[in-house]
Amino acid sequence: MITIIPDMLPENHPLESLPMTPRYITIHDTANPAPGANAEMHGRYMRSQAAIDREVMWHFTVDDREIRQHLPLNRNGWHAGDGWYGNGNRQSIAIEICENADGDRAKAESNAAALVAHLIRTQPSLLPFPECVVQHNRWSGKDCPRVLRGRPGGWEAFLSAVAAQLSESRRQVPVRDPAGRLLCSGWLEENTTVVPLRALAEALGLVVEWEQATAEARLRWPGGA
Ligand SMILES: [Zn+2]
Repeated sequence: MITIIPDMLPENHPLESLPMTPRYITIHDTANPAPGANAEMHGRYMRSQAAIDREVMWHFTVDDREIRQHLPLNRNGWHAGDGWYGNGNRQSIAIEICENADGDRAKAESNAAALVAHLIRTQPSLLPFPECVVQHNRWSGKDCPRVLRGRPGGWEAFLSAVAAQLSESRRQVPVRDPAGRLLCSGWLEENTTVVPLRALAEALGLVVEWEQATAEARLRWPGGA
């Protein structure tokens, strides 16, 4: 499990934060390589007049030691450069990855990948992975996250690290009937056993039908209506 340090902006923060249903996770690099420009410093920066004047705020800052959260996940930030109505600003959870020269950048990236995997597991409104994980560049054309974009294969490696975190969490769980017969295999996600519906239903003698029009699964008894 990851540890998220609450470092929330105050209720009376001058920048407005609107209700949001997150569909995306937007990845940024801080573009601040100064020693000491870590997650704690960026949390302080967001409260400064300079940040308020620039009209920037975001959800998480990650360095090599900490993951700090600044906004609730059901409120928006201003980070994507795509305007008041942009999907980047209005539908995405923003993560800033620190570049401070006195930090371990590889560790900061792996902490960010762990955070992304955690959000994917816990935020059901997100689009399916990997479509839900996007670069700041997607929204405004800015060269951000500049470190991941500047390293050959950097973005692909980041997505692979997220995928590895997601599969690592898939500890197999055998699902057995009362006689001890194996019905199917599931896996643990955040203390919930998740099972493939068709495998379990068919092992129980049910038929699964997929309704394309409504995107619903229906169970019925074989031969039944
Ligand atoms: Zn950015």
